[in-house]
Amino acid sequence: MNELLKNLTEAVGVSGEEKEVRRLIRDLIVDHVDEWHVDAMGNLIALKKGTGAVNLRVMVDAHMDEVGLIVIDYDSNGTLKFSGVGGFDDRALLGKVVQVGSKKITGVIGARPIHLLNASQRSSVVKMDDMRIDIGAKNKDAASAKINIGDRAAFVTEYEELGLTAIGKSFDNRAGCAALVELLRERPYPFDLIATFTVQEEVGLRGATTAAYGVQPDVALILECTPAYDLPNKDDVSPNVALGEGPSIYVMDSGTLQDPRLVSLITQTAADNNIPFQIRRPGGGGTNTAVIQRVRGAIPAATIAVPGRYAHTPTMMINLDDYANVVKLAKATLLNLTEDIVKRN
Ligand SMILES: [Zn+2]
Repeated sequence: MNELLKNLTEAVGVSGEEKEVRRLIRDLIVDHVDEWHVDAMGNLIALKKGTGAVNLRVMVDAHMDEVGLIVIDYDSNGTLKFSGVGGFDDRALLGKVVQVGSKKITGVIGARPIHLLNASQRSSVVKMDDMRIDIGAKNKDAASAKINIGDRAAFVTEYEELGLTAIGKSFDNRAGCAALVELLRERPYPFDLIATFTVQEEVGLRGATTAAYGVQPDVALILECTPAYDLPNKDDVSPNVALGEGPSIYVMDSGTLQDPRLVSLITQTAADNNIPFQIRRPGGGGTNTAVIQRVRGAIPAATIAVPGRYAHTPTMMINLDDYANVVKLAKATLLNLTEDIVKRN
């Protein structure tokens, strides 16, 4: 059992309320870094001093936050109105168990029972507006005694390994966080490595915006979990990325064209070390790379991701070999970094 992935995915950190995850990561890395601090946004920023052989400041980023829900009002019957924090697929919500607020009050996402729906209601998707979180409170006063407006609700999903695959919540992006923790446990790199465990990615890359500005790196590597759509399809289309095919390397997404020098370095490093990899098919989606790349006078940046099925739902699935290979590839890439790679002429 991968205890790191288990502990990180079972911890709760819906965007804007990342404290539990941040403290867990802080405790995991504190003995392996020289300095750490938390900035005003809540980003955990840690410096691992290098040997000085390579004159670069290298930022490695992983966002800590996960998609979830936020309580916006109470109904008179004691149920909770909510909206999404981060991009959500409403279809994945009904019947799911959630934990609400810092006291982790258990609730279930409910709607009108299927028996009481007419034919057209049965065939349409229930909108989030028509769902409620039910914590078993008998009226509004009972609900408001336990829950505050603004409390986050997170999914309750136990981490489990099924052979080489693992299921759990929030592999997006605790898989990236776990990989970054593993990188910090290594011996010092030839350069100063600044790890940024950032907040509020899922609501618009907000934590990385301030973190990258503050860190002022020469080069940045972003560790992520990217949605894999590799299930049987009626049409003969190749998957964007597939589970078990190795780390997913970005060349383009909705917010970036990745730095071509870094993309070449990553793919060449993978080939040299016999690490499988796949180029993520360009298309939608985005990562912290979009804002890190454009901070100050621009930062060369690239992204390596663990492919994950069912992103932004209560239960995701990853392949554990893909995860291990992301750690290997990120480490090998860092060790191949030189000042020349980021010089333009
Ligand atoms: Zn993510």
